[in-house]
Amino acid sequence: MRKDDSNGGCDCRYQVETICQLSDSTIVDQWGALSFPIYQSATFAHRGLGESTGFDYTRMQNPTRQQLESVIAKLEHGIDAMAFSSGMAAIATVMELFSPGDHFVIDADLYGGSVRLFNEISKKNGLLFSTADLSREDIGPLITGNTKAIYLETPTNPMMNVSDIEEIAKKAHENGVLLIVDNTFLSPYYQNPLDLGADIVIHSGTKFLGGHHDTIGGFVIVKDKEIDDRLRFIYKTTGACLGPFDSWLILRGIRTLAIRMDRASENAFRLAEYLKTKKNVTKVIYPGLPEHPGYETMKKQARGFGAMLTFEVESKELVESILSNVELIYFAESLGGTETLITYPITQTHADVPKELLDKNGINDRVLRLSVGIEAIDDLIAEFDNLLN
Ligand code: PLP
Repeated sequence: MRKDDSNGGCDCRYQVETICQLSDSTIVDQWGALSFPIYQSATFAHRGLGESTGFDYTRMQNPTRQQLESVIAKLEHGIDAMAFSSGMAAIATVMELFSPGDHFVIDADLYGGSVRLFNEISKKNGLLFSTADLSREDIGPLITGNTKAIYLETPTNPMMNVSDIEEIAKKAHENGVLLIVDNTFLSPYYQNPLDLGADIVIHSGTKFLGGHHDTIGGFVIVKDKEIDDRLRFIYKTTGACLGPFDSWLILRGIRTLAIRMDRASENAFRLAEYLKTKKNVTKVIYPGLPEHPGYETMKKQARGFGAMLTFEVESKELVESILSNVELIYFAESLGGTETLITYPITQTHADVPKELLDKNGINDRVLRLSVGIEAIDDLIAEFDNLLN
């Protein structure tokens, strides 16, 4: 355990060594390769009738993907993890657990792709949704006889609202409702929602787990055997599985998850403090700042504050100027990699979110989101000195 003041005193459970050990804990390769082999095979030969090796067809199982899934299940303290071709494929597969008429309470602030999935596809399939700011509003009155699940991110994308997972899980379970948490923003290095009562955890593996902006992937992690069996059935049937090479890339990414998260979070904290000093920055939203309304909840339920921060500038003209003048950082969608990315939610990640929801969440044309990378902090500050002067 380590205490890091620049990280607000949150405990970091895993040391880098533990992560490395976890990612290579099941070496099955007979030659002793330290890097788990890429089993680039679509199918696997049977030795005889009823003599499967345990691997039949890569849509169902693949050794490289299985290695990755066992690492992710361990990191999230679940009984099983499934690796998908994207985070959205993971979320869409979880939605297949439900039937027409089932009702969800979802957080008002979510990744725009999730909002699009719920609004444009799940609703067409007969699922019903109520939206609430779960960082503030009581879910009690929103739960109906048909409510089957609560769905949230914490911190949220992009407004960094923090919900109390333990408290919401308790209320959900009192009503026989599942809690589904998208844990992408903090990664299992900083937060384990299953330990706090969540039933299903989702990740975009494209982000901190992969860590290098070079592959797309997603995960679902569960702790209940019955839910696992149902999801495994949907997984093999609908087929949005992660390929062997992408599985290997994410396995490699996880080997440095701890040091990347610590460095990027420290940079994010320093940048948040710096941005607060700029006159043309009107708001800085980072849950590691003591004035953030979710600061105490973060300290209670997470081991770090993460590398995501959102800020608002004084004018749309300044937004345009920042986005056309970045040099060290990239104006790009996505997050969680070694390089710092700046995203304009209103035209990128949240372009398909209805206007009234954007307004409710405070996502306007002056809001920018940063996924802070592992660059030298002085270089990042020098970049913002240029952009904001
Ligand atoms: N969840 C969150 C919080 C995200 O930010 C994203 C993508 O940005 C997703 C899920 C979807 O993941 P993917 O892009 O891997 O499909």
